[in-house]
Amino acid sequence: MRFAELAFPTAVRQTFTYQLPESLTLEPGVRAWVPLRGVHAIGLVVKVHDTKPSFKTQPIINVLDPNPIVSQEMLRLVEWISTFYFCSQGEVFQTALPSAVGIVAEERLIGVPEAKRPLSQEALSAAEKTLLEDVDSKGEEGWSLAGLKRKYRGRQEVKAIASLKKKGWVQVIQIPKTKVRSLEEVIQNGEYAESLSTGHSHQTVHPIHPLTPAQEQAFEPIQKALQKEHYQSFLLHGVTGSGKTEVYLHAIHQALESGKGAIVLVPEIALTPQTVARFERHFGPKLAVLHSRQTDKEKAAAWFSIQRGESKVVVGPRSAIFAPVEDLAIIVVDEEHDTSYKQYDPAPRYHARDVALMRASIEQAVCVLGSATPSITTWEGAQQGKHTLLSLTERPFGSMPKVSILPMQSYRSAMNGPLTVELYSAIEESLERQEQSIVLLNRRGSASYIQCSSCGHIPECPQCSVSMTYHKPKNMLLCHYSGHAHRVPTRCESCGSEQLEPKGMGTQQLEEELQILYPYAVIRRMDRDSTSKKDEHAAIYEAVKKGEADILLGTQMLAKGLDFPNVTVVGVLQAENELAFPSWRASERLYQLMSQVAGRAGRADRPGHVYVQTYLADHEAFKAAEKHDYMRFVTHERAVRHASTYPPFCRMVTFHVKGRQAATTIEKAQALGQALRQHAGESNVLGPAPALIERIQNRTHWQVSLKVDPQSKASQLYPFLDRIIQQVEGIKKQGWSSVRLNVDVDAVD
Ligand SMILES: [Zn+2]
Ligand SMILES: [Zn+2]
Ligand SMILES: [Zn+2]
Repeated sequence: MRFAELAFPTAVRQTFTYQLPESLTLEPGVRAWVPLRGVHAIGLVVKVHDTKPSFKTQPIINVLDPNPIVSQEMLRLVEWISTFYFCSQGEVFQTALPSAVGIVAEERLIGVPEAKRPLSQEALSAAEKTLLEDVDSKGEEGWSLAGLKRKYRGRQEVKAIASLKKKGWVQVIQIPKTKVRSLEEVIQNGEYAESLSTGHSHQTVHPIHPLTPAQEQAFEPIQKALQKEHYQSFLLHGVTGSGKTEVYLHAIHQALESGKGAIVLVPEIALTPQTVARFERHFGPKLAVLHSRQTDKEKAAAWFSIQRGESKVVVGPRSAIFAPVEDLAIIVVDEEHDTSYKQYDPAPRYHARDVALMRASIEQAVCVLGSATPSITTWEGAQQGKHTLLSLTERPFGSMPKVSILPMQSYRSAMNGPLTVELYSAIEESLERQEQSIVLLNRRGSASYIQCSSCGHIPECPQCSVSMTYHKPKNMLLCHYSGHAHRVPTRCESCGSEQLEPKGMGTQQLEEELQILYPYAVIRRMDRDSTSKKDEHAAIYEAVKKGEADILLGTQMLAKGLDFPNVTVVGVLQAENELAFPSWRASERLYQLMSQVAGRAGRADRPGHVYVQTYLADHEAFKAAEKHDYMRFVTHERAVRHASTYPPFCRMVTFHVKGRQAATTIEKAQALGQALRQHAGESNVLGPAPALIERIQNRTHWQVSLKVDPQSKASQLYPFLDRIIQQVEGIKKQGWSSVRLNVDVDAVD
């Protein structure tokens, strides 16, 4: 007898065993229909074996796919993700597969076949008869269970659902939420051609540019690795504007020439029409673009075209790492340091960069991680020989912009509204030259903080070395890692000054103030509020590009993926805001932001100038950014991380505890903290502490963080986490079972 292991879209971290009837042959990677808890459910077959389990098994009823929809390599990758990120395989499949081919199902009520029904309807109540008639009228498809309950809300028929089921007249089945369709069906409906023609407006394929000698030098080792067809990973460290994309394009071309495929990951926000157009120009109809704004239909069409091998190059955000590219030769992770590669909620809480490395190693492909400001973790990996380091240190066209760090303490009597006189005049002069300016107001989340206006100091937690958050109603400072809290001091702990002030100005207020300073300038604002509407981002972008705006104002969104050759002045206000965000990565993020901002200024033939207003001009991130000196920054930051044991010198696992009632949520978080301290040691556990936003969607949110050995393997960490969770979930107290525990492995904040 043969057996199959099936994964279901639930958080239960195990697969389920079913019998394989003699009449069925199947390979792992197909979807199957099986009985599960009284309904017929859809699962994905992840393994076929002949080890008879000790418990009684039920048979598979039907197989939904003639051929595997998931490759054997992808099955291995999914299994690794579920172990490494402590989640179920079903949760990974939910993320990896578009809904049209997915395993998410809908429950429907259908009539039991005539032959199996009870002999007479006499014993049925009026409500039961009405319901049965209604269900039967729908034939094989039946009624959706949810729809039926809505239709008869508050009436006897709702209760009749259960009683009719019990009496053997109706049954509940699961069918795929989106109808399972063959590719042929999709093509017949014309959806396939339609999506391709709208997606690819450029018919002519442009040849790629020849590489400069410096780019050639970076490309050569990648080229050699591609020829060997063995796994190898590279860190391509190139300053902004040095032509990393040219190197990617050449590498992808080589992959295509040998008949193989490529995946390019870009941060979601960088998926501007501009980026996409650049790839389209070179790869034309061979390119598939994936992004989160696509409809299910568009996503499915792209997925099928990739699976059929018609699209061989895929560009997309983090979930594109699951694209069904066959014969994968290369994965590029552009801006590898970007936070959008980490999925926070729901599970799987994976990091697309690390999944990319694992997928490349499973498929014997090449992985290129590119960045102007590599994450400290990736940099450390290159130092240890995990990745081969390649560098592009110069811009082939134009020069690096000048960066001026302006210490706010020295400008007290030289301010024009929110701007130092220097920045004010620079913008005015750029207006006179009919050039454009960007003003970036750095804001991160809703964290508010206290800062000393004399020395710029932001109070830090003595235990965790992260900034403390200001809680106005209680006039308290609180650490969101350890929970350490105290009243706001009356004097600065660094310089003794009494000028401790809450900080944080909004973009709207700034827009008004700038309009007063430059009454004739056209100002456009780009932030979360102004771009929540679809396409608003693109509209503002186009306006600035066409020169219809003089000043573009916004949050750190502006720093990514935008390219305006006519922008010659960039001002950054409240630059150290990044440091006030309570995270061990705060300095790294500040440096990345500074570097990206500098990359926005003067990319064409005109020199750019970046003005950074800050109270913390002596901070290492500013010092390094002023000289475009990544090495200086990474050397300093590495030492800081080492001293306080943060990644890459440990791995962070954050447990999120969420519940409706504050008291039980906190109790459970405390029990978790205790269990962790008991098994992992006092010094490796931070918290429990309230999350940055303690109350969200009517739930209380606390967290506990665990530091684990950076060398620890998933095969060691998984059973440890499992034991902790079981111990805490095993405590039976009133209200505890409704408090949820989520585990975030390799948490980035
Ligand atoms: Zn001070
Ligand atoms: Zn702390
Ligand atoms: Zn304290």
